[in-house]
Amino acid sequence: MPSMKLISTLALIGTLALVGACRSTGQRDDGERKLGAFDASQRRDGSTNIFAALDLPTPTELRLGSGAPGPAYWQQRVDYAIDATLDAPNQRLDAKMRVTYHNNSPHQLDYLWIQLEQNLFTPDSCGALTRTPGGVMKQLDNVNAGYDLGKVSSRGRELKVTIYDTLARVELSEPIAPGASFEFDLEYAFDMPPHLRRMGAEEVEDGVIFEYAQWFPHVCKYDDVSGWNTLPYLGSGEFYTDFGDYDVSLTVPASHLVGATGELLNPGEVLTSEQQARLKTAMTTPEPVMIRSADEVRDSLSRPRGRDTLTWRFRAKNVRTFAWVSSESFVWDACAATITGLDGSDRTVLCQSLYPREATAWSPEDEGGGSTRYVRHAIEHYSEALYPYPYPSMINVNGPEGGMEYPGIVFCGARENAKWLFSVTDHEVGHTWFPMIVNTNERRYVWMDEGFNSFINLYSKAAWYETDVDFTRHQQQTLQLASADNPMAIMTAPDQIWSRWLGRLGYRKPAYGLYILREVILGPERFDTAFRGYIHRWAFKSPQPSDFFRSMEDEAGADLAWFWRGWFLETASLDQSVDDVRVSDEGDASATLTNHGELVMPVLLRITYTDDTVEDRVIPVEAWHSTNRWRTWWNTGGRSIQRVEIDPEGLMPDEDRSNNTWMNR
Ligand SMILES: [Zn+2]
Repeated sequence: MPSMKLISTLALIGTLALVGACRSTGQRDDGERKLGAFDASQRRDGSTNIFAALDLPTPTELRLGSGAPGPAYWQQRVDYAIDATLDAPNQRLDAKMRVTYHNNSPHQLDYLWIQLEQNLFTPDSCGALTRTPGGVMKQLDNVNAGYDLGKVSSRGRELKVTIYDTLARVELSEPIAPGASFEFDLEYAFDMPPHLRRMGAEEVEDGVIFEYAQWFPHVCKYDDVSGWNTLPYLGSGEFYTDFGDYDVSLTVPASHLVGATGELLNPGEVLTSEQQARLKTAMTTPEPVMIRSADEVRDSLSRPRGRDTLTWRFRAKNVRTFAWVSSESFVWDACAATITGLDGSDRTVLCQSLYPREATAWSPEDEGGGSTRYVRHAIEHYSEALYPYPYPSMINVNGPEGGMEYPGIVFCGARENAKWLFSVTDHEVGHTWFPMIVNTNERRYVWMDEGFNSFINLYSKAAWYETDVDFTRHQQQTLQLASADNPMAIMTAPDQIWSRWLGRLGYRKPAYGLYILREVILGPERFDTAFRGYIHRWAFKSPQPSDFFRSMEDEAGADLAWFWRGWFLETASLDQSVDDVRVSDEGDASATLTNHGELVMPVLLRITYTDDTVEDRVIPVEAWHSTNRWRTWWNTGGRSIQRVEIDPEGLMPDEDRSNNTWMNR
């Protein structure tokens, strides 16, 4: 395995993690036991102690006690062949598709559930009706988009379909046996809805940009945990689908350039010979090559002549969905990233950007570096740190959508601000690892994709700008959650999270938790081995939260029930204090520490002596096993203590820092 590029940026933190291995001497102080973490009445799951074993699902041969997928693990597979035509002036898409569903489960299936995400834009959809008033609601007032669904048939026989908002149940003429495949055909059309979620059309200087995502009816995921996953599409929850192969033909005006998930199969038909030659060059160089410059956008010679429309054909293998864009306004540049594959050999990934001329920060000429260099950095960084990037190319697209990820293609709305463009690009490309490779249920567990991704972004950003990891915002937002009147747990499903908290709860708090787990609790080496182990075990499979918890503990050799419970399952907050320091004539010093909150953490203690020497000690979290007050002992070696401080570097989400320092007055 390649060496981990995630770097420990604070030198001190590495030291702390090491010190943590040797236990500080100490004792339980029974003075006040009914406090904070050690208080049965405060625990949500009824356990008497934050350290009690978690109540996880019983392991099976599908999902092992180690957190790895077992020998009986199965998942479904769905292949799609889609033929779509864009009527650009009317912003309408007409399509027909053939779906091949492979039942790899040991169960017979009597019916299928299908997701109809575009029905979010029908006037009476649950997602439209439950939205809070304001801009979004207004936009939806006169919208009557959603799918026009044609006949659904299998081998010429029509199937009965019943639509429930963003879901449809398809009755089968005969059950699909375990191991069997089932093919059906479907025709559909829809008008482009106003830009609200994940896709849309936008008028720019040189034309209109069309972004299409969650744009075809797809079979819901049937799995071993929930059976059919039929959570409706309300807007916040993204998607949870099976892997499959896609053959997609997109017919668009000949003036358009198209970008999509997967490989372009017919460049000879849709690109000029000059563009094909430039693309070949781009595949061999790390520096961006202009495939179509801003000047060429207005030059009709930059498109093949003699046709009104052109059909772009794409193939994508083993992806969990397919997205695409189309516009006459696109500037296009590309370069090659080099990564090391699982077999140890190097290969290149084509990094591309499509953007209108007014997206100035995207240009390779921009002093920030430009979009394509950001894409290359992200692909190379995450491939080395986590798992090799699995697709032949990645395209970053500027259009109406602010930020959204799909396999091999991402949307990024930032136009002129290079720092913002870097952050969004890095984040959206980072989603390749969560949830495009590790395929989690985004509609239930936003933290397993957004939270994990936000965590890895911290290190990628620090590597690009050559700075320390900056977790300030993540810490602040975690503290805001802790002090809120009506706190929610990270495990809350995204559509059930108060929308103003989605960023805090789905992104920042889980990312900050993993940061503390890596830098303080486990140490970088132990954490990285476990985290990478989780990704490699579950690449192209679908782990549940319990699989993640178990896998991390198993690979790190650590009991982290207290951490998962306190940080992810509950809304516990942290408040550690140093109450009192005593020194005997022989130089034996002791400090009394209290854990006031429901959350427990190791105590990072710094002792500063009057001769300016400093000693860092870590009281392991196990000190709180059976008490909330702990006395820790050490010898001063004859020095006199000036101050004793908890968490001097401010790493922890300590709610009240006023009680963190003891001064010798
Ligand atoms: Zn995201």
